[in-house]
Amino acid sequence: MAAKAEKTFTFLVVGGGIAGVTCVEQLSFQIPSAEVALITAGPHIKAVTNYKQVSKTLEEFDVEERPSSVLEEKFPNLTVIHSAVKSLHTQSHSVETADGRVFGYEKLCICSGGRPKLLTQDNPYVLGIRDTDSAQEFQKLLSKAKRIVVVGNGGIALELVYEVEGCEVIWAVKDKAIGNTFFDAGAAQFLIPSLEAGKPEKAFPCKRPRYTTEEPAGGALQTFTADGHLRGKSTGPPEPGSALGPDWHEGIALRGAEQVSRKVSVEYQCEVEKIFTSEELLNSQQQTLTPENNGSWPVYVQLTNGKTFGCDFVVSATGVVPNTEPFLQGNKFAIADDAGLQVNDYMMTSEPNVYAAGDVCTAGWEHSELWQQMRLWTQARQMGWYAGRCMAAHVLSEPIELDFCFELFSHITKFFNYKVVLLGKFNGQGLGTDHELLVRCTKGQEYVKVVLRGGRMVGAVLIGETDLEETFENLILNQMDLTPYGEELLNPDVDIEDYFD
Ligand code: FAD
Repeated sequence: MAAKAEKTFTFLVVGGGIAGVTCVEQLSFQIPSAEVALITAGPHIKAVTNYKQVSKTLEEFDVEERPSSVLEEKFPNLTVIHSAVKSLHTQSHSVETADGRVFGYEKLCICSGGRPKLLTQDNPYVLGIRDTDSAQEFQKLLSKAKRIVVVGNGGIALELVYEVEGCEVIWAVKDKAIGNTFFDAGAAQFLIPSLEAGKPEKAFPCKRPRYTTEEPAGGALQTFTADGHLRGKSTGPPEPGSALGPDWHEGIALRGAEQVSRKVSVEYQCEVEKIFTSEELLNSQQQTLTPENNGSWPVYVQLTNGKTFGCDFVVSATGVVPNTEPFLQGNKFAIADDAGLQVNDYMMTSEPNVYAAGDVCTAGWEHSELWQQMRLWTQARQMGWYAGRCMAAHVLSEPIELDFCFELFSHITKFFNYKVVLLGKFNGQGLGTDHELLVRCTKGQEYVKVVLRGGRMVGAVLIGETDLEETFENLILNQMDLTPYGEELLNPDVDIEDYFD
């Protein structure tokens, strides 16, 4: 049973990542008289800047780490509490924080994000990248490394292997092709030559505040005490920070100890069998190493394809686990198969008056045929915004409908320096054999793939400056029968925009 709350807020939001911040912004904007609080474990909050609606569903923005005072100045009704939530008592409508305080709520939204799914816990040679602190740690270790092993095939692994210079990278992927989370083997083939080519020069500094191993000058990176006061340098155990977002690696030099530009070898269709220290390796009988792997590496990785590689450290980039742990004990949340808090189409969990948004939640409503959840920056923003709207509508007893952004999956990103746009069922997700593909590819320039079902477009992958995103988005949304156009749809000599205008 929780102690008595020192204060009760109409709206309490947990997590200063993009979902939580967007949620409190929306609540403060919609009901300026309501008392809103944001409790967050990390010293900074994440702010969306330069937001641009590219088309009906595609959006682009930058993300900045900011002191929370920026939010409090903007919204006088908002209080930011810097501490980690230790427990939740849904019966008494209260949360308890790590520094022993208790806060009550009328409506609560959990936006505590996720943490890296590590290959092994507590191994100093295995690193997960999630937040600013872990990115700094990675940068520091990399600066002394000659070889690293990267495990995983999602967005983080893709970006890492492309960005790292001055260090050999062994990249272990469980699939037949790289980037399986985002695209098919054809697109992977298109991208592979970029890994072999030199890296284009980058202009520094870039648009976001960056992570450095040095102490910040002039208070560029600030830390706060639990009660929200500014302090010099953070001490004590690290608190879980917000996940990094688009372009997280820009502006941090991902450089190893060697003079090589980029050297990546991909090991396909394999997973990690075992991780050894050099002593363990010496004591093990069955190890046979190729000469280049023999030596005195601090750690060795045995893969399921039988190969063993020595390296300086291992990066575990195999996805995230929703951060639900502090909220579960004593409560009856419905938990989804992927371990997220299951939410309905109002972003409500199964516990009354408790909502969730972003990486911590699993969208449990019946999805539109063209949308799927992926734990991405854009969806964290959309869910936080929509959760805020739902919470406000419920307090005001106003009706609300599932937002249009959940109609069509859409995502813009950059891989290997190419613009990448993903729309709808871009990988034929859930379609079985009931679909056909049209592909157009110009080496080094563009890769266009269209997924058709019953002659109608249901998904697309656009790599390069194709300029097709808006037209394809419209074709997917209006479900026009494209059978009469056949392969002409991707004929580069036909100006497709004119065709369908
Ligand atoms: P988070 O950003 O993780 O925020 C969670 C917040 O909750 C943090 O402030 C944390 O301090 C706080 N918190 C956690 N536990 C507690 C607690 N017990 N009490 C109080 N506060 C707590 N997505 C893209 O779309 N494009 C990309 O290019 C991209 N690149 C990425 C690269 C990396 C290295 C990583 C790790 C992720 C990347 N993502 C990318 C994914 C994206 O960053 C996440 O989907 C998004 O940040 C999720 O936002 P969130 O607000 O749900 O969670």
